[in-house]
Amino acid sequence: MAQPIKAGGKVEPLRKTRPCPECGRPSLRDHYPFCSDRCRTQDLSRWLTGSYAIPVAEDETKAEFPDD
Ligand SMILES: [Zn+2]
Repeated sequence: MAQPIKAGGKVEPLRKTRPCPECGRPSLRDHYPFCSDRCRTQDLSRWLTGSYAIPVAEDETKAEFPDD
């Protein structure tokens, strides 16, 4: 059998692991860029909640603010 020749025998990851945006732990490829499906869901739910929390700006509803 032929022996595999590899330089150094080191296997470098294709991507650098980024910290999970939710909890800061190293992310996993399966859940990239998150560390787990839980964090992915949390981030998604937060994003959806945040979108609903955005107030609708209507010029007509604006009261007259006195100029300082
Ligand atoms: Zn996480």
